[in-house]
Amino acid sequence: VLRALLLAPPGAGKGTQGERIAEIYGVPHIATGELLRNQVELRTPAGEMAKDFMQRGELVPDDLIIGLVLDQVADDEPLPGFVLDGFPRTMTQARAAYEWASANDRTFHAVIRLEVPTDELVERLLERGRIANRVDDTAETILRRLSVYSDSTAPLVEFYRARAILVEIDGTGSAQDVTSRIRSRLDELDLD
Ligand code: ADP
Repeated sequence: VLRALLLAPPGAGKGTQGERIAEIYGVPHIATGELLRNQVELRTPAGEMAKDFMQRGELVPDDLIIGLVLDQVADDEPLPGFVLDGFPRTMTQARAAYEWASANDRTFHAVIRLEVPTDELVERLLERGRIANRVDDTAETILRRLSVYSDSTAPLVEFYRARAILVEIDGTGSAQDVTSRIRSRLDELDLD
């Protein structure tokens, strides 16, 4: 069973690929952006707290997101497999994830890094802003999210490279091509 996470900037295709990979490997897809948008919609205390951060393109506080994700991966007992999409995004989150995973015998098999040039990311996000109604897909917020990614999330690449679970994937081309690239790399792994 697969335990993987997607590590990539906004617009790189985390959502699309996360969904496909989860389906192929028969595990739940846990997307933190979606979880948070649901909480906002439902006006839960977590949603009320997260709302302004999200609208500005800032990360929500670590404690909040760590609590939400741990609830998902450990309902009654720890889920055997999952694809995490959008978590962890800070070193504090990465450490919390690792602590949970080692304590529960659920360490990750793969951290999938999707690489897409920045100008293409901006284009994709602006396009999504035109067709979908994500309040954070505006020019200003897109730039903010990209810079938050380089400051807070990009350092995780080295963290996972050092643990030898980083899988680097070219995220350009059709969604289908990207899925095939990911699959061929995951199929080489020993998914115990
Ligand atoms: P994107 O990758 O395009 O920014 P997401 O749907 O993954 O889109 O996330 C949307 C927003 O939700 C983020 O900008 C952030 O405010 C919040 N968010 C999602 N995941 C996390 C996380 N792990 N830590 C903090 N904030 C998060």
